[in-house]
Amino acid sequence: MRSFALVTFGCQMNQHDSERIEEVLGRAGLSRVDEPALADLVLLNTCSVREKAEQKLRSEVGRLGLLKRQRPELLIGVAGCVAQQEGERLARSMPQIDLVVGPDNIGELPDLLRELDGGGPPRVRTEFDLDAPRFLEAHPTDAPRSAFVTVMKGCNERCTFCIVPHTRGPERYRPAREVIDEIARLVAAGTREVTLLGQTVNSYADPEAALGPAPGAGELPWTATHPSTARADESEFAALLRAISERVPDLLRLRYTSPHPRHLTMSLIRAHQELPVLCRHVHLPVQSGSDRVLRRMLRRYDVAEYSERVARLRASVPGITLSTDIIVGFPGESRADFEQTLALVQRIGFTGTFGFKYSARPHTPAQKLADDVSEGDKSERLAELFALTDRLRRDHLTALVGSTQRVLVEGLSAQGGYTGRTEQNEIVHFGSRAQRVGQIVELTIARAFKNSLEGRESDATLSAPLPERRGARERAPSARARSLPVL
Ligand code: SF4
Repeated sequence: MRSFALVTFGCQMNQHDSERIEEVLGRAGLSRVDEPALADLVLLNTCSVREKAEQKLRSEVGRLGLLKRQRPELLIGVAGCVAQQEGERLARSMPQIDLVVGPDNIGELPDLLRELDGGGPPRVRTEFDLDAPRFLEAHPTDAPRSAFVTVMKGCNERCTFCIVPHTRGPERYRPAREVIDEIARLVAAGTREVTLLGQTVNSYADPEAALGPAPGAGELPWTATHPSTARADESEFAALLRAISERVPDLLRLRYTSPHPRHLTMSLIRAHQELPVLCRHVHLPVQSGSDRVLRRMLRRYDVAEYSERVARLRASVPGITLSTDIIVGFPGESRADFEQTLALVQRIGFTGTFGFKYSARPHTPAQKLADDVSEGDKSERLAELFALTDRLRRDHLTALVGSTQRVLVEGLSAQGGYTGRTEQNEIVHFGSRAQRVGQIVELTIARAFKNSLEGRESDATLSAPLPERRGARERAPSARARSLPVL
């Protein structure tokens, strides 16, 4: 077997797994091709969080089955969350499939392929690595400007709508030492920005217990959260952020996704306040603005707790932006519940919102609840949510016109110039006669579009060596930016 094609369906964790799959197969001597029709193995890396991704897998396998009829030696493999969720059942229900491999078994791919080379029935490997968690190291040949680094996997929460605890297992953490080494290697190879990944990334605890307590750990200023609950919310994530900042001084930007709101502790807020490398943007999934629905979702916070933590963060880090995830039409969600969600979105002023219609997922507690919001109501609510979030986003972007922003240039834009991101995660397009990819440039924002900005380089655009520029904060926001909705 010489070549493979890889199709990725899912989230950032899934994309990150695809990068590791590519490296594992590359080391085993296989080369990647873009066209499934030219490959000896087609691997579909799946996601099961949304129903659509699963449907997509089924239709993709159907299409590949036609190819396999012409070329019986073609191998079809399924990786990712659907593989983990369905295991043997997947191979039984779709006989075109030769290989099913869970996220924790990616490292075993070469052995499984060798077994398949000898013929025989489909191979299925979906065991969690509970006793000895493995985190495949990134060894990119061409270091990306912006890279993902996994710090933990699995989830101990039990949100009733979510299949992740079933498909990714309980929380397992990567030693801080390994995380830091990987980031140092990436930065030495040219990476400028790192996003730490984990299902509840901010519940992190170093399994080697090598991190000391972070400033702010144990501070409980909360009025909305009971002290015993708040104490249990503390983690070592802030200490990890501090260790990365200290030991990889050439890293320019650090982000993380996805945090759980209950672990937005004072130690994390202090880290945001004190570490210039931490970007001033947090994606903080809230899911609903109704306490009744949050309880049914088992989110383990209420609106008052979420709002208080966000208010603290904002008071400590002026200008920080927030984005979120919202599910509309969760079982039992009334019109009044939904209106509370709209009110919360408006009050917080999220600059980005990923909205989804609820759909029952297998192996989730919510599957037992009556999916009683009609499809029509779900669509209407989603459209209303998007109308509001589009307006909030437009107002936010418009308020940035005239301001100066520091943009990490990620690549060429479709329009022929460059594209990059501000610290607060806004996308900026701009033209330049100089080579700018990988640099941080200072741009004056000239225009706002629906989802992005147009910037202009000023005469004094950066030419200082990059590491010296880390930590310089943007200029004070304009009066209009200060008038954005704040809790
Ligand atoms: S915190 Fe909730 S939504 Fe997030 S991965 Fe865990 S169970 Fe799923």
